[in-house]
Amino acid sequence: SNHTNGNGVTTNGNCSGGGNNDVFISVDRGDPKMYYTFWKNVDDKCTVTIKASELMSYFADLDQGGVFYQLPEFSAAVHQVHRVVGNAVTEGRYIIGGTGSSQLFTVALRALASTVNNTNTDNNLKKKRQIPVVCAEPFYSCYQEALEEEKSEIYKWQGDAKTFDEEGPYVEVVTTPNNPDGSIREPVVKKEGGLVICDLAYYWPQYTPITTPADYDVMLFTLSKATGHAGSRVGWAIVKDKEIAMRMIKLMSLITIGTCHEGQLRATKILEFVADSYAPLENGKLNSNGNAHVVEQPSEKFFEFSHRVLADRWKRLRAVVKRCGVFNLPEYSPEYCNFMNKNIHPNPAYAWMELKNGEDAEKLMNELKIQTRGGPRFGVSSKYTRVSMMECDDTFNQLLDRLSTLES
Ligand code: PMP
Repeated sequence: SNHTNGNGVTTNGNCSGGGNNDVFISVDRGDPKMYYTFWKNVDDKCTVTIKASELMSYFADLDQGGVFYQLPEFSAAVHQVHRVVGNAVTEGRYIIGGTGSSQLFTVALRALASTVNNTNTDNNLKKKRQIPVVCAEPFYSCYQEALEEEKSEIYKWQGDAKTFDEEGPYVEVVTTPNNPDGSIREPVVKKEGGLVICDLAYYWPQYTPITTPADYDVMLFTLSKATGHAGSRVGWAIVKDKEIAMRMIKLMSLITIGTCHEGQLRATKILEFVADSYAPLENGKLNSNGNAHVVEQPSEKFFEFSHRVLADRWKRLRAVVKRCGVFNLPEYSPEYCNFMNKNIHPNPAYAWMELKNGEDAEKLMNELKIQTRGGPRFGVSSKYTRVSMMECDDTFNQLLDRLSTLES
């Protein structure tokens, strides 16, 4: 049966009204609907069934040293997928699950800001300053929006990292590859007292070559952009420092008493399914037939599928953009991907489009009945707008049709 998700889209991944030129299409949000085709083919080979008698307790990890709400198999699946893909160091790190990485962003920020404030044991405790939070522009719009809405007393949004020059502790958010423009980033402030949250939502082989395992103090990943299961609301933080990890776990306990165990179980199944298709593991070792969970795999594996779809979409988008001559698109150089074992071109999750004549890009898109997210939301000029490359096929085809009607 098809349930609508409230956006006029059915959960079968197809879009309604996509063929009608009078209806707005939305490529505004980063809803990862392109992955539907892959998982539809997997069909019932990656299904979770849960009895009413299962997963009833608040507690999942009875070993009190762990994250009390986390299924041990979820942590194991996270380790396994990173080991297979090689995109992050997880050995000896704390894996802390959250309700999407959005929740973990706030939780990590609070943990970092209160740690900094606590170590600053001036005699004058009342003089605690709000910790500035910065990110190089163009930055992911939700960081600013979430922080300005929250109005926290311990930290405050301070915008572009490139122009930040205050003394004292601060937090820099590094999104790499970056949302919206797909660039590969490193911290830019590099001052004493700086702490980094590295948002690696898009550091997966379908979007960008995997050149090295990421190794930051606090790293965030999300199932939403890894496999496309955004509705499960599963993300995870990989944390080096014990004190920061303990603060994060305590906050998770206070805010929501952990996360939904059903979501963890589904994420576990999906991450294992993807990882097993490349390097079957059982207790860290191959079993006799070289297969751990003996699951029948589709002929085209997950990252090959998603890389192929995105590469094809980028090729088609570039051709249309070149023909109409109205927009600029960023260029990306190919690099050797240690996971794919070959040179590959980055295929970012978003197209960061710049209107050549300097006028309002989101407005022009609106005239074509294409809903996008304009530059000002990301801290930059309105001549830019962001287009999601992850929509369903119908919407993406409509996008190209409508862009093709433009002429310079
Ligand atoms: N970080 C970045 C850079 C994102 O683009 C997104 C989703 N658009 C998120 C975090 C949040 O993802 P989620 O809460 O679904 O895990």
